[in-house]
Amino acid sequence: MDFDVIIIGSGPAGATAAMYLGRALGKDRVLIVDKAGFPRDKICGDAQGRKAANIMRELGIEEGYRQLPGHPVYGIKLSSPNGTEVDVDITTRDNPPPGYCHRRKVFDEYLHTCAEKWTTFKIMTVTDMIVEDGFVKGVKGKDADGEKEYRAHLVLAADGANSIVAQKFGLNKNPPDHFIVGTRQYYMGVTGLTDRIEIHLVKSLLPGYFWIFPLEDGMANVGLGMIVKDMNDKKVNLKAAQLKEIAENPLFKERFANATALEDIKGWNLPLASHHRKCYGNGFLLLGDAASLIDPLSGEGVGTAMISAKVAANTALSALKTNDFSEKFLKRYDEELWAEIGTEIEANYRLQKLGKRFPFLIDKLIGKAKKDEKFRKRIENMLPYTGGRQEMAKDSFVEELQQMEE
Ligand SMILES: Cc1cc2nc3c(=O)[nH]c(=O)nc-3n(C[C@H](O)[C@H](O)[C@H](O)COP(=O)(O)OP(=O)(O)OC[C@H]3O[C@@H](n4cnc5c(N)ncnc54)[C@H](O)[C@@H]3O)c2cc1C
Repeated sequence: MDFDVIIIGSGPAGATAAMYLGRALGKDRVLIVDKAGFPRDKICGDAQGRKAANIMRELGIEEGYRQLPGHPVYGIKLSSPNGTEVDVDITTRDNPPPGYCHRRKVFDEYLHTCAEKWTTFKIMTVTDMIVEDGFVKGVKGKDADGEKEYRAHLVLAADGANSIVAQKFGLNKNPPDHFIVGTRQYYMGVTGLTDRIEIHLVKSLLPGYFWIFPLEDGMANVGLGMIVKDMNDKKVNLKAAQLKEIAENPLFKERFANATALEDIKGWNLPLASHHRKCYGNGFLLLGDAASLIDPLSGEGVGTAMISAKVAANTALSALKTNDFSEKFLKRYDEELWAEIGTEIEANYRLQKLGKRFPFLIDKLIGKAKKDEKFRKRIENMLPYTGGRQEMAKDSFVEELQQMEE
């Protein structure tokens, strides 16, 4: 075998898996390939929360991450469909920031550089799998010199939302209510930016949202996301919707009056974890977006991608130890991953559906949080990006929200 493990894609999922595996197996035994060299752009909201930080702490790379150019995040500004705004803080300013916004060009290059210390990296576009006796045995692709093939005991597919591995094995077919399409446009000069990310639950996009996330040097990441089914049903053009919100919504139009867009509006897919995709097969595992792991409420995918990488790396090490790369053995990856992320995903999916059916509940929730400090403190630990999941997962909270409808 050329390698023990081949990882396709050096985004957050692939680079994280590479760090865990390279350290355990050695640089020459783990190959990571990406069609891009780094730095490269990735369309994203650019927000990273505690899940990502916890993994980086474990890998000993958190300190460098905190030094990257970006913006610390201490809280969330929320607005409801009726235009009420509330600021929710996650912690006080004398603590280290619980989250950051780093452009993915910067963040991914950092992770990739850390991963390259422990693994063999090649720029290569993977075009197909080597499959023998029903098992994936390696990858086929192209680099600057032409066609290439590399073999390994196990292939980890961290090749994003359009994963060719998920496609090859027919695992990529999320129903349209389990896919979001999101947009992104960098701006300079939006006024009123703070050290909070802004999530605006505007009526036309529910349960999707419009966001403004602060970046370094007065830049902002501006975008919106909407469930594909709703977008199709309501015949929404996302780019037009974004421009309309910026130009007409009373919450934003003054703030953008003298702002400059630094690029055209770009769009990309978010496969949601509300659809539990099978993420293993003979000789391969799917990680991150390839495994459809994005939070269905917040759109957060970096943290779960990195968690999946950790679980996948552990599974890969066990498989190598027992020399068993069968689907039957690798099923444990799916089970362990979902034991870790399932409760929060399930709760957030319930909230997503609830918000869609009863938008006035969001008005009530945000209105109460604005008026009632005690209630606001309570929800501080439940919001997406803050890492608090136990409370969010409880039936009692969802019931309380439901009762607020009366
Ligand atoms: C508009 C938008 C906003 C978002 N906002 C946020 C946010 O604020 N916070 C958050 O946590 N998440 C956000 N997400 C989700 C987040 O971007 C993804 O969940 C995350 O990037 C998943 O990481 P990954 O490593 O699985 O895949 P990716 O980051 O997509 O990395 C995949 C890698 O694979 C490589 N690759 C692809 N195909 C091949 C191939 N054939 N051969 C070789 N290499 C290949 C690519 O070049 C890339 O480097 C957002 C997504 C979108 C679209």
